[in-house]
Amino acid sequence: MTTVFAYAAPSASGELGPFSYEPRNLRNDDVEIKILYCGVCHTDLHKCRNHWGGSQYPLVPGHEIVGKVARVGTSVTKYKLGDVAAVGCLVDSCGNCRSCKDGLENYCENAPTLTYDADDRKDGKRLYGGYSESITVRESFVLRVPSGLDVKSAAPLLCAGITMWSPLRNWKVNSKSKVAVAGLGGLGHMGIKLAKGLGAHVTLLSRSPGKATDGRRLGADDVLITTDEAAVARASNRFDIILDTVPYDHDVNPYLSLLRRDGNLVLLGLIGNIQATPLNTGPMLSARRSVSGSGIGGIQETQELLDFCAAKKILPDVEMIAIQEINDAYERLIKGDVKYRFVIDIESLSKVRG
Ligand code: NAP
Ligand code: ZN
Repeated sequence: MTTVFAYAAPSASGELGPFSYEPRNLRNDDVEIKILYCGVCHTDLHKCRNHWGGSQYPLVPGHEIVGKVARVGTSVTKYKLGDVAAVGCLVDSCGNCRSCKDGLENYCENAPTLTYDADDRKDGKRLYGGYSESITVRESFVLRVPSGLDVKSAAPLLCAGITMWSPLRNWKVNSKSKVAVAGLGGLGHMGIKLAKGLGAHVTLLSRSPGKATDGRRLGADDVLITTDEAAVARASNRFDIILDTVPYDHDVNPYLSLLRRDGNLVLLGLIGNIQATPLNTGPMLSARRSVSGSGIGGIQETQELLDFCAAKKILPDVEMIAIQEINDAYERLIKGDVKYRFVIDIESLSKVRG
């Protein structure tokens, strides 16, 4: 394949549309994947619209990638042609720092190489994401999709799934834990399913009363509507951990009081500065509560997640779209109108190729 077809954002304000590029040469330790499905993360939207500054265009988003191995380099041993494989948010890291040696490449002290809107570590070539026909990635950053996982709906595990799994594992959530998940979107719905899979008692914290039934259907034992101040006040000292997936600036102080002593509010939304309401240290000091963050996950724990989901039959709830629907999908994402992850059927790109 000499030219790869994709969909790209041309600028922060422009709609995504057809784009083609020359892929990099296959290196000895590379795997080329023909992409079948790619999930749509809220991060894709943040990146395309330059919410954090620094986005470079044309920008091909997509870091929830599932496909089939189409080519392998001469030293590749783990994958062969036709294997179902996946790529998440990372495609490389330094390999030498403490985090990389601990299998936490996501926290590489020399900055991990992200799947898109980044430059290749070796040759500096621009990297494009999964809204594309194919991707070429180092073997050690490719994941194996176990045969028990449905290929069509597995893609969101690669970002939404691992972003929830990593803190659940790091803070040792188990059948005695009381977990709350704030925001029922792509990340949130996986948080509910995975925390339930680990045996925890799970509560959904949502601003949307209309999502209560779905929250329970997805496995939540309880639902707390965050706009109901009286109900929030009654729920103080309840949770060991809150996984907060809200993507925009919001007041986190009410959440802190919901934590038990030693509880932890884990911020996952890529908010930047919390400005709306300053953080009050009172609830932290009065019950040794913490505020922390967590960013995606390492390669080893992502494989662990895929294997766990295959064994437990846990899958994302997806709405399949064609690439031509992506701009509408972004508008729906902003409105919270998705149940609960859009996945692009990459076959639809063939209409662009003609
Ligand atoms: P999403 O599907 O759009 O879901 C976000 C949910 O947050 C919404 O469904 C909504 O749920 C709630 N929400 C509350 N206030 C909102 C507001 N003002 N606007 C929109 N939604 C609001 O997003 P996602 O893909 O799960 O991503 C969530 C955030 O995590 C994004 O900022 C994304 O960039 C970030 N992220 C972080 C990591 C990481 O490594 N930490 C990885 C992936 C994504 P309710 O209606 O139930 O309240
Ligand atoms: Zn993501």
